[in-house]
Amino acid sequence: MRVTVIGAGVVGAACAYACAQRGLKVTVLDRGGLVAGTTGSGEGNILVSDKEPGPELDLALRSNALWRDWEAELNRQVGYDTAGGIQLERKGGLIVTRTSRGMRALAATTGELVDERAVRELEPLLAADILGGAFFPQDMQVQPARAAAAMLAGAREHGAEVRLRTEVRDLPADADAVINATGAWAAQFGIALPVEPRRGFILVTEPLPLLIRHKVYSAEYLENVASGDADLQTSTVVESTPGGPVLIGATRERVGFDATPNREALRKLAAGAAALFPFLTDVRIMRTYHGFRPYAADHLPVIGPDPLTPRLWHAHGHEGAGIGLAPATGELIADLLTGSAPALDPAPFSPARFPEVAA
Ligand SMILES: Cc1cc2nc3c(=O)[nH]c(=O)nc-3n(C[C@H](O)[C@H](O)[C@H](O)COP(=O)(O)OP(=O)(O)OC[C@H]3O[C@@H](n4cnc5c(N)ncnc54)[C@H](O)[C@@H]3O)c2cc1C
Repeated sequence: MRVTVIGAGVVGAACAYACAQRGLKVTVLDRGGLVAGTTGSGEGNILVSDKEPGPELDLALRSNALWRDWEAELNRQVGYDTAGGIQLERKGGLIVTRTSRGMRALAATTGELVDERAVRELEPLLAADILGGAFFPQDMQVQPARAAAAMLAGAREHGAEVRLRTEVRDLPADADAVINATGAWAAQFGIALPVEPRRGFILVTEPLPLLIRHKVYSAEYLENVASGDADLQTSTVVESTPGGPVLIGATRERVGFDATPNREALRKLAAGAAALFPFLTDVRIMRTYHGFRPYAADHLPVIGPDPLTPRLWHAHGHEGAGIGLAPATGELIADLLTGSAPALDPAPFSPARFPEVAA
C-alpha cells in the first residue's frame, strides 16, 4: 500500500514512522522545511494531567506509553551521545492553586493531591501563598523538533521518502491513502471540517540553572484548555528546559492566522509567572514566539478516514496536545490502514462525527 502523508509536523512524522514500520510505502510531503508549522512552537509537554477521563485521556495514556517505547530508537536516530537525543524528561507535572475553588477542581482530577508542605518539597521556589496541588508523575517533556526529526529519520530507515518544500494542492493521484496531517491548515482539503487556528504565545527567559523541577501550572489552565472561547485566555504554565531557558505560557485566542504580537497577552504571562515563582521577577525575557494550535470545535483530535472523499484520511485537530498525542495518533492510523485491531476505540476521533461532514 502506498501512503502519502501531507505535513511533516510531529503528527505527520508519527504517522509516517508508524506506517513505515508496518511495511507500508510512505512518502511525506511538506510545503515548508522541517517542523515549519506549529510543531516548531510547541513546548513539548506530554501531559495526562490536563485531560478529563474519556477518549482524549485514553489517547494520552497510550501515547505516553509509546513515547517510552519509542524513546531509545528515536534517541539513536538523532544521536544521544552527541546531541542529547529527543530530550525526553520524565519530570512529572504539578498543578497548583492558591484558592479553595482551585483545590476543589484539583480534587476532581486523577492526580495525587498534595498539601502546602508537600508542594514546597516538590518545588521549593513556589510563592508562599500556594494552598496545595495535584501531582502527576506520568507527565513528561520532549524537544518537539528533535522528536519529529527523529521519527522522520526512523521512517526513512524503513524506506520512506521525505520531500520538503513541496506544496500539495490536490490529493496525490499515485497514493492508495493520503493522510491530511496539515494541523491548523487542515480545512484546506475539500471538506468543511471545523478545524481552525488557536493562537498561543510563549515567553523564553535567559538561561538559568535548574530551579524549576517539574512542569508547573495553575489550576485555571484546566478551564482554559476545556473552553472554546474565541477571546484571549491566559493561565500560567512554567517549565525549565535542558538548555537552561524557562518557558512561560500559555495564552489561547482564536484570531485566525494573525501573527501580530499581543502586548496584553505577553504582560499577563509575565505577571502570572512571577506570581507563581517570585524569583522570575528578576529574570530577563530573551524572546517571545507564537504558534497556531489546530483547534477542533469539540476539543478532540480528528483521526480516521474521510467519510466523503475516497483515499483521504485525517490526522489533525490536536490543539494544544499534538506533541504528546502524536505517537498514539500515528499508531491508530497505521492500525486502521493495515486492518489491525486498534489499541483503542477509534470512533470518538472519527471525522464522520461532525454534522458538516456527515450531511
Ligand atoms: C504556544 C504553543 C505551545 C504548545 N505546547 C504544547 C505542548 O507543550 N505539548 C503538546 O503536546 N502540544 C503543544 N502545542 C500544540 C502542538 O504544538 C500542536 O498540536 C502540534 O504541533 C500539531 O502538530 P501537527 O503535525 O498536527 O501540525 P504542524 O506541526 O503545524 O504540521 C503541519 C504541517 O503541514 C504543512 N502543510 C500545511 N499545508 C500544506 C500543504 N498544502 N502542502 C504541504 N504541506 C502543508 C505545514 O508546513 C506544517 O509543517 C503547543 C502549541 C502552541 C502554539
